[in-house]
Amino acid sequence: MPIRVGSVGDLSKSARRCRDLGHAWDWTGDFEIVRRGAQIIEASRVATCDRCQTERVQVLELPSMRVKARRYEYPDNYLGVKGAHLDAATIRHYEVERFLATPAGKRTQKLRSVGT
Ligand SMILES: [Zn+2]
Repeated sequence: MPIRVGSVGDLSKSARRCRDLGHAWDWTGDFEIVRRGAQIIEASRVATCDRCQTERVQVLELPSMRVKARRYEYPDNYLGVKGAHLDAATIRHYEVERFLATPAGKRTQKLRSVGT
């Protein structure tokens, strides 16, 4: 069981990025084939997120190639404990607050003021 976090600040940086932007998937495993007699009835393969290392197993039903099931295996510090607020809007709020708390000389972006 992966270690779970209680707040946005406890998430890993990669977990915050993936929860905001979505995972950066790539296939990392070859097909695993299931046969019944001579007939192939199922094929599955693994994709891994290049950023946070979450793994997604996709199970295909043959011959339709319909996705029959998906399973995810998350790294430590990606999932939250029950009641933790880790939705994308909460993470974006956290990132803006971090930016505002960074001394002006260390920011890579500047604040822009509009109006009076
Ligand atoms: Zn990811």
